[in-house]
Amino acid sequence: MNKPLILVVEDDPPIRNLITTALKTNDYRYLVAANGAQAILEASSHNPDIVLLDLGLPDMDGVQVIRNIRSWSNLPIIVVSARSEDSDKIEALDAGADDYLTKPFSVEELLARLRVIQRRLSFMSAGMAAANSVFVNGRLRVDYAGGCACLDGQELHLTPIEYKLLCLLSKNVGKVLTHTFITQNIWGRSWDNDVASLRVFMATLRKKLEPTPDSPQYIQTHVGIGYRMLKVE
Ligand code: CA
Repeated sequence: MNKPLILVVEDDPPIRNLITTALKTNDYRYLVAANGAQAILEASSHNPDIVLLDLGLPDMDGVQVIRNIRSWSNLPIIVVSARSEDSDKIEALDAGADDYLTKPFSVEELLARLRVIQRRLSFMSAGMAAANSVFVNGRLRVDYAGGCACLDGQELHLTPIEYKLLCLLSKNVGKVLTHTFITQNIWGRSWDNDVASLRVFMATLRKKLEPTPDSPQYIQTHVGIGYRMLKVE
């Protein structure tokens, strides 16, 4: 991907300048929008590679912008917001945001999050055809068509739920998946005890997948929010 185009949605001029300066000096192209309506217009007319989205906008809530964009596009959205409650993060992630960064943030962290999304995008486009049937991530290989997973060439003995979880995480590699999203995909509902079961299945899956389950390499926990499969270099 050469010179990705980033849409910066932010109504606060000093923060907008901070972000656009960082983007410019790091070889990104950018567009700006100071409100939700403009954000939706810019996103639909310029087809940016990634959206950086503030939630507190003058004309509408940023979550509405996420829902609008998600109704027609999968383009990656990173929320950059002063709202730091888990419930706010969960609402934005459930609406379809790919990641969440809390203000005040460091420019270095923002750039790192952008690189994560870019790696995911290039990984997805590079292996689009192959990734549809086989997923490879470091020593892990998931054969969706064959319905099996291997680590270092050794087949993993997974229960049906563990396998479903692994597929869901791998198909969304790099993306934080909320408890609600996961339980709805696995069990078709999201009750409190499903989240408790999810923890149990995640622990058993990790035991089989991670060489050292205490410092996981593949599956990252976001406490109170959900899980993310990391792209292993
Ligand atoms: Ca704002």
